[in-house]
Amino acid sequence: MDQLIVIGAGPAGLAAAVSARAVGRPVVLFDSSDYLGGQYWRHLPPERPARRESVLHHGWERFQSMREQLEADPRCEVVTGAHVWAIDHGRIHVMVGEADGTDREARVYDAGAVVLATGAFDRALPIPGWDLPGVFTAGGAQALAKGERVRVGERVVVAGTGPFLLPVAASLVRSGSTVVGVYEASRASRLVRHWTARPWELLATPHKVLELAGYASSHIGHRIPYVTGHAVTAIEGRDRVESVTISAVDGSWRPIAGSERSVAVDAVCLGHGFTPRLELAIAAGCRLSAERFVEVDDEQRTSVASVFAAGEITGIGGVDLALVEGALAGHLAAGGRLHDPAVRMLRLRRGVLRQFARRLARAHAIGENWTTWLTDETIVCRCEEVSFASLCSAATTTRSSGLRSLKLLTRAGLGACQGRVCGRTVEGILGARTPQGRLSGPRTTDRRPIAAPIRLGELARQGERTTSTKQRP
Ligand SMILES: Cc1cc2nc3c(=O)[nH]c(=O)nc-3n(C[C@H](O)[C@H](O)[C@H](O)COP(=O)(O)OP(=O)(O)OC[C@H]3O[C@@H](n4cnc5c(N)ncnc54)[C@H](O)[C@@H]3O)c2cc1C
Repeated sequence: MDQLIVIGAGPAGLAAAVSARAVGRPVVLFDSSDYLGGQYWRHLPPERPARRESVLHHGWERFQSMREQLEADPRCEVVTGAHVWAIDHGRIHVMVGEADGTDREARVYDAGAVVLATGAFDRALPIPGWDLPGVFTAGGAQALAKGERVRVGERVVVAGTGPFLLPVAASLVRSGSTVVGVYEASRASRLVRHWTARPWELLATPHKVLELAGYASSHIGHRIPYVTGHAVTAIEGRDRVESVTISAVDGSWRPIAGSERSVAVDAVCLGHGFTPRLELAIAAGCRLSAERFVEVDDEQRTSVASVFAAGEITGIGGVDLALVEGALAGHLAAGGRLHDPAVRMLRLRRGVLRQFARRLARAHAIGENWTTWLTDETIVCRCEEVSFASLCSAATTTRSSGLRSLKLLTRAGLGACQGRVCGRTVEGILGARTPQGRLSGPRTTDRRPIAAPIRLGELARQGERTTSTKQRP
C-alpha cells in the first residue's frame, strides 16, 4: 500500500498520522522542526527537559501518547528537520537536516495521498516604534518562554486581540516577567455580544470555557489587569523599548483623542491573530476559500484529488479543532470511510468546534481603522524597510490596483520573510487606497513557490537521489 505523506507534526499532523496508522496505512510524517508537537506543544529539548513538563502544557499526556505511538511504529517514518521546500507537478521536495547545515539530504516523493497540516504564523500589526529591540510577536514570546524558558523582559505589556493573549501572559509570568497588563483592542460590548450569543453552544465546549476561566483566575492571582477597548498605539525608546502609549480605541480601533497614557516597560508582545501557512497548499493547487484558508469538504479533502488538509490552514480554531480535523483527514486519506463509527463522533465534534471558532473570529476581528495609529514613518515591511507613507503614495500616485505591480514598486513583502510577517497588512493598506477600494489579481503575498530556503548547490544536486512513495514498502 502507498504511504500517506503527512506534512506538519503539530496537533493536526500528529492526529492525522495516528488515525491513518489505525486504518493500517504506512505513513511518512515530516516536520521542519527538530521536535514533534508544532506550535502548541512547543517544549524544551529532551536533553534538558522541564521537571514537570505536563503542568506547562494542556493535553501533554495526549501529545506524549501520540508521539510514543508513532515513534515506536515501524510503519510510520517520523522525519524531523525535514523542510518541505516545494510541491511541484505532484512531486514533494524535501531537504532533511539542519536548516543552515551544508550536508542536507534531498528527498523527492511522488505525491500519492497527502495530508497538509502546516499550521499558521502569528500576526502582529505595525505600530510606530514596533521595530525597536524589545518588541516581540506574542507567538515569538510564547515560543521563547515555552521552548527555551527565556524571559523576554522584566516589565512586559501584552497587546492585540484574541484569547491567545491570555496563555502568552501566563507563560511570561511563569518565565519570571511582570506583566503590567493585557490590552485587548476589541471593546467589551463586542466581546460580550459575540461571546454570549447562543450560550447553549458554549455548553458543548465546557473545557474551552474552563481553560479561559483558568487563565482569568491566574491573571487575578498575579494581579494582571485585562483591559478591553485599549491598544498599544506607539512604542517609545532610544535604543530599545522604554515605554508604550496605551490608548482607548473605538469599535473600529481608531484611537480616542485624549485617552493616551504612557507606561514604562522593557518589552512588548503583540498578537493580532494568525495567518495560515498556505504556500504548500497553493503550490499543490488547492483552492482557497473567500477568507483565504484552504477549502475542504466534509471529508477534509481539498480541491485537489488525494490532497487533504487539516488544522489552522483550513481556519483558525485552536488545538482541539486541529486534533479533530487531523484525525478525520488521516482516517479518510488512509482509505477509511466517512460512515465508519470512529468518524461519526469526530464530525459532530468538528461542527461544535467550528462554531466556537466562528464566535472567536467575530469577537476578535481586526478593526478597520487600526491604520489611524500609524505615522508616515512607521515601517510596515521590516525586511525591506518600507514605510506606511511610501505604501500609501505608491497606491495613490499610480492608481494601480495590481498587488504584484505595487509590490514590485515598493518592494514591500519581497524581503527575507517573503511577506510572511507583513503580507496581509500590506494588502490591507494598499487595497484600501486603490480607486476600487480593493486589489485586483492574485493575492501574491501567500504564493511562495519555494516554501523554505534552499542553497543553489542543493538545487543543482537535486535529482541525484530521489525517493518515491511507490518504491517504499
Ligand atoms: C507561535 C505560535 C504559538 C502558539 N502558542 C499557543 C499557545 O501557547 N496556546 C494555544 O492555545 N495556542 C497556541 N497557538 C495556536 C496553536 O498552536 C494552534 O491552534 C495549533 O497548534 C494548531 O495546530 P496545527 O497542527 O494546525 O499547526 P501547528 O501546531 O502550527 O503545526 C504545524 C507544523 O507544520 C510544520 N511545517 C509548516 N510548514 C512546513 C514545511 N514547509 N515543511 C515541514 N514542516 C512544516 C511546522 O513546523 C509545525 O510544526 C500558537 C500558535 C503560534 C503560531
